[in-house]
Amino acid sequence: SRTPLTLLGTGAMGTALARAWLAAGHPVTVWNRTPGRAAALAADGATVAASAAEAVAANRLVIACLLDDASVGTALEDADLTGRDLVNLTTGTPAEGRARAAWAVSRGARFLDGGIMAVPPMIGHPESGGYVFYSGSGELFEEHRDTLAVPAGTQYVGADPGFAALHDVALLSAMSGLFAGITHAFALVREEDIAPKDFAPLLASWLTAMTSSVHHTAERLESGDFTSGVVSNLAMQSAANSTLLSTAEEQRVSAELLTPYMELMARRVADGHGDEDTAGMVDLLVARGRAT
Ligand code: NDP
Repeated sequence: SRTPLTLLGTGAMGTALARAWLAAGHPVTVWNRTPGRAAALAADGATVAASAAEAVAANRLVIACLLDDASVGTALEDADLTGRDLVNLTTGTPAEGRARAAWAVSRGARFLDGGIMAVPPMIGHPESGGYVFYSGSGELFEEHRDTLAVPAGTQYVGADPGFAALHDVALLSAMSGLFAGITHAFALVREEDIAPKDFAPLLASWLTAMTSSVHHTAERLESGDFTSGVVSNLAMQSAANSTLLSTAEEQRVSAELLTPYMELMARRVADGHGDEDTAGMVDLLVARGRAT
């Protein structure tokens, strides 16, 4: 028989999660602050609890998928977490994950934090490539591994309860830069006789080819060698940026998405690192000597 579980929060994501577990045969107890939003799941076989405390009392495994970290604290204020396995799939920061873990443990629970790398339509379809980063209690993760794998793939990234959020946000932050580049590229061709649908495959295959730089950067950060075998050095790349900026001006496109990264490159060159590639810029962003 499948592990019974409690799900707190039946918003867009919570509802998708509940449906995936119900479809796989898990008994699911749900609670939502606004009761009407949980009622629909009763038709799919879920038990609807009248309060979060009642939902938590129903099962050892408790999943929270609420708006933000503060709503987790509010929702679980009156719940008895003794002996509970709390899995928090609410998006938050690494510090929030760590503080929430200490809070849950002090109340007698084991704690696992999660960062969902999927949108609701991907939930229940692991073949879609959607997955969840998990960090915190390794024992909890191992014990509930099969249950957690029902809605999406699982990727355990360590005992530090902040690491799931850190991995989640690092990937989203990279996506932000990628989307900025895509936005600028389409803007450059926008007013020309170039169909976006003809330009798109060229842009997509170029970006795909460029992703190998992720591995080159990792090798340099591992070895500490930022100069051997550099193909396009930073001095040359930084000089070429003027062509990108002039083209933006010619096309009457704002360069506001490009300039912060270009300024960072120029600073690295000015610091005497023109013979490196872009990997050395990572350390330019990091404030050293953080409190540990
Ligand atoms: P929704 O806005 O659809 O749902 C938010 C949920 O949080 C609702 O159940 C809402 O209850 C509840 N809630 C909000 N504030 C409180 C509070 N103070 N106390 C108790 N409950 C509260 O969001 P999603 O379901 O889409 O997102 C849930 C989590 O999943 C978020 O952390 C989000 O970042 C994450 N996520 C979502 C993705 C997506 O594409 N949707 C992708 C990856 C992660 P009520 O119905 O009463 O308002």
